[in-house]
Amino acid sequence: MRKILISACLLGKKVRYDGGALSVDDQIVEQWRSEGRIVSVCPEVEAGMSIPRPPAEIFKGSGKGVLNGEVDVIENDGGKVTNEFLAGASIALNLCRKFDIDIAVLAEFSPSCGSTAIYDGSFSGKKVPGMGVTAALLREHGVHVFSQYEIAQANTALLATSS
Ligand code: SF4
Repeated sequence: MRKILISACLLGKKVRYDGGALSVDDQIVEQWRSEGRIVSVCPEVEAGMSIPRPPAEIFKGSGKGVLNGEVDVIENDGGKVTNEFLAGASIALNLCRKFDIDIAVLAEFSPSCGSTAIYDGSFSGKKVPGMGVTAALLREHGVHVFSQYEIAQANTALLATSS
């Protein structure tokens, strides 16, 4: 049974920077759950970051730039957390390798998990096209990353490759 990686906060786990959770009320996710397909991960918490923690954004760049050492992830008080974000991304990638996962559903807009858009690093709520660090690393290694707004597409991809 092919598995799928999902952001822990999307499964209702209170792991977000503010101690909250997101949730996806979707029958497809429930189906995945009942089939035992779901592997959950919060890259930031897995990397040792606390709950709650200061909000962080990628400063003038995206996850790809972080992977290339071109830009940093900073907290709103100016603290640099680039290494923690890189460590979290590696943990997520290792989970994909361990469970032979090539499909992920990650939480949009996060500096770790965002897959099409993220905040711009100004902490003003402005979003820009781009990926978080985990999404960028997973894609670099062939994982198909979807957001919580693309569950149906993720399911189509999953069933197309299911064994
Ligand atoms: Fe953790 Fe990703 Fe959810 Fe942020 S978006 S809380 S890093 S799982």
